Amino acid sequence: MRLEPEAFDKVSADEQRLAALHQLDILDTPPELGFDRIADLIRLIFGVEIGIVSMIDGHRQWYKSVFGLGTSEASLNSTFCRYTLTLGHQVIVPDATKDPRFYDNPHVVDGPRIRFYAGAPITTHDGLVIGTVCAIDTTMREFGERETAILMHLAALVMRELELRQEAATDVLTGASSRRAFKEEVKKHLSLANRHALPLSCIAFDIDHFKRVNDTYGHAAGDKVLSGAVNALKTGLRQSDCIGRVGGEEFSILLPQTELATAVNVAEKLRHLVKDLRFPGSNPPIAVTASFGVAALGPSDDIETFLNRADQALYQAKRSGRDRVCSAAAANEPEKKNRRRVLKAGQIIFNGGRSTYDCTVRSLWENGAEIAISLPAILPEQFELLLKGSAEKYACTLTSRTDSSIEAVFS
Ligand code: GH3
Ligand code: MG
Ligand code: MG
Repeated sequence: MRLEPEAFDKVSADEQRLAALHQLDILDTPPELGFDRIADLIRLIFGVEIGIVSMIDGHRQWYKSVFGLGTSEASLNSTFCRYTLTLGHQVIVPDATKDPRFYDNPHVVDGPRIRFYAGAPITTHDGLVIGTVCAIDTTMREFGERETAILMHLAALVMRELELRQEAATDVLTGASSRRAFKEEVKKHLSLANRHALPLSCIAFDIDHFKRVNDTYGHAAGDKVLSGAVNALKTGLRQSDCIGRVGGEEFSILLPQTELATAVNVAEKLRHLVKDLRFPGSNPPIAVTASFGVAALGPSDDIETFLNRADQALYQAKRSGRDRVCSAAAANEPEKKNRRRVLKAGQIIFNGGRSTYDCTVRSLWENGAEIAISLPAILPEQFELLLKGSAEKYACTLTSRTDSSIEAVFS
């Protein structure tokens, strides 16, 4: 069955807020000090065990910053914040066992045994709720007008932080371009490359076992390694190349007017530069390696497909042993016509309609979709996809599966 793009373009409130969230480019990014401060302030000011700054995706609540909980996300179904999202204003629950909405909630009955919850929505200028800040405790407590006002101010500060983050063009620690600025640069070069039939390549770069560096030598030493590695990379690049920090210890390098084979050679040179670095302060000094994925722009690539292919090659370099360069095959995957990145809430249905799972559609093309879901392993080969806000169901066949997402074609 062919997908008519209009079928997905019915504008519902949830779609608008997901579109706003999509623009902020914040989901699944590493911890950042500004947000960590706010989550920690929640704990300190209110004296609660758990402080959270969260973004609300189609199917999950994802924590940009969390103190006092061991997880980084929760399925949206059972969260208290679902109410804060739907109501669009603060929700205060002094004692969850006495609240008809929450007394039988799994997080109250077992799990952390939540008693107290106070949540305030993070709202854009247009009044769209994209996330929440919340204070949670396992003992009941009072929360007056003053506390509520403070929580709402903290939610507004998160929104301000998100706006500032978007405006920043440079990453302070490393001097690399911010994720957003890097993408702008790629867009510019992509249209130039298409217009003048110029080659364009991208190198995805990720430090190997970086978590160990932090765990062994501390976060500050980790930071020195990051800025040192970027400085070293710069010595191996041309002035016209652009380096962007696209994740915590993940970087992308754009090489204008460069063919794949040349880009692979550049990546090899960069690999040696990083490997040869020594960071004093410990005995022996800290040394790291990195893995690289290289891709050249294909004729029908959009920005996401292009960057994704470099990412896939990087993933391959990691899987095959790290400290190496892998290149992506030319754009030879089955054509995903009119592929576009989206953020849409959906539901996956199988088992004759008896099993349903919330999901988020991340990209759509004419006859298929990439879908994020909490437990991809449970899905059968055949299922139906319902996009919330549209009454139509799409029969799907699974084509690939990762830890957090799947791809499917519409049959
Ligand atoms: P792999 O070889 O698979 O890449 O393993 P890894 O340990 O490098 O990868 P993983 O993604 O598990 O861990 C990345 C770590 O990078 C986790 C995170 O705490 C750390 N990190 C992210 N941003 C920063 C930062 O700005 N400074 C420091 N010091 N660490 C950071
Ligand atoms: Mg790494
Ligand atoms: Mg990484």
